[in-house]
Amino acid sequence: MYTKGFDIQDVAKFRQWIAETRNVLLVSHMNADGDACGSLLGMTLMLDCAKGDKGLMTPVLPNGCPKNFTWLPGADRIVSGEKDRALWQERLKEADMIICLDLNAASRTDMLAEELSQARCRKVLIDHHHSPDKEHFDLIFSDYAISSTCELVLWLSYAMWDERFMNRDVATCLYAGLNTDTGGFAFSCEQPSCFEAAAKLVKFDIHPAEIHNKIVNTFSVNRMQFYGFALNERLKIYPSQHVAIMVFSLDDQRRFGVGGEDMEGLVNYTLMMKEMEVGALLREESGRTKVSLRAKYDVDVNMIARQLGGGGHTKAAGATCIMPLDKTLDAVEQLLGIKNVEPLIIGAER
Ligand code: 5GP
Ligand code: MN
Repeated sequence: MYTKGFDIQDVAKFRQWIAETRNVLLVSHMNADGDACGSLLGMTLMLDCAKGDKGLMTPVLPNGCPKNFTWLPGADRIVSGEKDRALWQERLKEADMIICLDLNAASRTDMLAEELSQARCRKVLIDHHHSPDKEHFDLIFSDYAISSTCELVLWLSYAMWDERFMNRDVATCLYAGLNTDTGGFAFSCEQPSCFEAAAKLVKFDIHPAEIHNKIVNTFSVNRMQFYGFALNERLKIYPSQHVAIMVFSLDDQRRFGVGGEDMEGLVNYTLMMKEMEVGALLREESGRTKVSLRAKYDVDVNMIARQLGGGGHTKAAGATCIMPLDKTLDAVEQLLGIKNVEPLIIGAER
């Protein structure tokens, strides 16, 4: 079982707040991944069961649900802060409680951050990132040693209600997050509780292989061709530093008709080479650059991401730099110790 446990008073307080509340807004981060979508919808569906017709649950994602998670139960209810602005603002005004999931600070909700910070209702945080923003939440369930927010939601629901509101749909959502945040149970799964959580979910007759296929094996032909281009022409390898890095301009992305969602997971290829220990992916967006960092062993990429104004986990972190691509690359090269070092393969010039 989950060894860290929860503060019993916090659990009792949360259960009480749920009982007293009618309109709940559930929010996760920009560019949602499986853990964001899974924890958001798993919690929404359990609260539906807990409240029945005495509650209105609204799951919100700043820029909506990514394509490969639209099949999750309840995904059709997700309000996009970007596309459904009026509905988001209406529900925010009516909210008695806001539950933030899989983020450690309101800023991770991008364009929703300011309105979220200004909201005066009760705010609860359920998350597994380092350094939760303690000032802006009234109640925090946070553990950076746990595999995923979905795992935390599962144990919290057991602490509050045992199995009362668990069902196949909830289990499917939570398993999706466990699967994605551990890379299919390959990393971030050092604690036995991760596998115990998976075992509990599997009992609800979910289909792990089908869930995995629906999340991972979903490439379009364009995306597949882009991956070929990325590996052939945009991968730079620094053998002595054990670093590999990929950089994509807006032009690269336009050429293949791909965007951020299509690059989810691409950074992991940098670590597939035996000698590589740290990998980075830089993606140009208009007016800013998105950085993804990954590590295999001892390097703490969360510390590196924080120096870029981002954060995350020890072995998977990221940042959104309000700088052009070349300036961001310069900063990343400095931090990774590859500035002015000749790579083994120089992209397109090869
Ligand atoms: P990814 O590289 O897959 O986009 O993100 C990996 C992890 O890094 C995420 O789970 C999240 O914890 C963190 N992360 C990614 N982008 C950002 C960002 O812009 N700001 C912060 N603070 N963390 C980020
Ligand atoms: Mn997560």
